[in-house]
Amino acid sequence: MKYEYSLDFARAQDENDPLKAFREEFHLPKVNGKTAIYFCGNSLGPQPKQTRAYLETQLKRWEEMAVDGHFHGDAPWYHARHKSKPHLAEIVGAKPEEVVAMNNLSSNLHFLMVSFYRPTAQRFKIISEAGAFPSDLYALESQVKLHGLDPEKTIIELSPRTGEYTLRTEDILEAINQHGDELALIMMGGLQYYTGQVFDMQAITAAGHAVGAQVGFDLAHAVGNVPLQLHDWDVDFATWCTYKYLNSGPGNISGIFVHERHAMNPELPRLAGWWGYDEAQRFQMTKGFKPMYGADGWQLSNTNILALAAHEASLEIFHRAGIERLRTKSLFLTGYLEFLIKEISQDKGTLEIITPSNPHERGCQLSLFIHKGGRALFDRLYEKGVVGDWRNPNVIRVAPIPLYNSFEDVYQFAKILEETLAEF
Ligand SMILES: *Cc1c(COP(=O)(O)O)cnc(C)c1O
Repeated sequence: MKYEYSLDFARAQDENDPLKAFREEFHLPKVNGKTAIYFCGNSLGPQPKQTRAYLETQLKRWEEMAVDGHFHGDAPWYHARHKSKPHLAEIVGAKPEEVVAMNNLSSNLHFLMVSFYRPTAQRFKIISEAGAFPSDLYALESQVKLHGLDPEKTIIELSPRTGEYTLRTEDILEAINQHGDELALIMMGGLQYYTGQVFDMQAITAAGHAVGAQVGFDLAHAVGNVPLQLHDWDVDFATWCTYKYLNSGPGNISGIFVHERHAMNPELPRLAGWWGYDEAQRFQMTKGFKPMYGADGWQLSNTNILALAAHEASLEIFHRAGIERLRTKSLFLTGYLEFLIKEISQDKGTLEIITPSNPHERGCQLSLFIHKGGRALFDRLYEKGVVGDWRNPNVIRVAPIPLYNSFEDVYQFAKILEETLAEF
């Protein structure tokens, strides 16, 4: 595709965009009274207009039925989790039994590691990426300590080569082989939140399994952003949040994936709760935990219905838009952003894109390493209506999102960035 730095070009792409109508399904925020160029959906997705009605339906049920809402009327809460499973399964490339919406991301990381990080005297190490999201670091560190081990000697953080910003797959695979006999777990982001790099989850999983390790991914920045095939890639477990690309509302419910291979294994240790117990017999309230088949067996608490309602509103939109169509537009939209940024910064040394240039190694987000202006540049962009996000020491992350961002958004962003860079 030949891109052009012109408003006419951008508008023509919007005209031809089969997904253009979805923008109207979102409340986009305003900055200084004008609809923002909202490139921050990788941090908090905007509100779908239909979310309110989904929530109101549940408020009404609660208002009118109270406890009877659990078992009576349409869509009793007792079975609420089932409805979201097929849609979630589509998004992460899984079977419906392999996924369930529950808890929050950091909590789920812990619950899953209780099952999948089983260190022994010989096999105890964990591979992760350096500069992982802090919650993941704390989760790893505290899990390791829970087993009486020293994080310094246990967690191997993979760093890019000197002078590079992102990891090479060959280096990841080499590290896996190098620590092979001692490696218990690989737990890393599927898409690195800072650099925007997508890791080769299939190759990493295969290499991990070949040396006898378990493999799990934190998909906070991958889910709803890049196509995933967790089942076929043979990933052991994964978890994600739903308030970023999945637009389900601040702090909303998370989701987990547990591969079918582990679905029937009651030997896997887990921290159990009544909601993971066989639902047909749950109310016999007997001792001795018997997990349900699949991901459901990792649930602890009864489903957060209001949270799930907002999540379902968003999943319904993803189902209609289709993850493949979204990806097709996303490749084009982010490609346009990359083209324009290169146009305006060419050889000027003002900024560089640290996200991989290979479209298959990235999602929507581009991370810009700012050489000129720093935080003040970012603040000026905000004043002019650009909502991106700033990460110390010097990175602005921008994510044009195919569900609701337009080519014109990308064009306007570039124009504003070009003007603003000239101020510094
Ligand atoms: C956003 C994000 C989190 C946030 O965790 P919560 O438990 O949802 O607060 C954790 N890990 C990664 C990689 C993230 O991007």
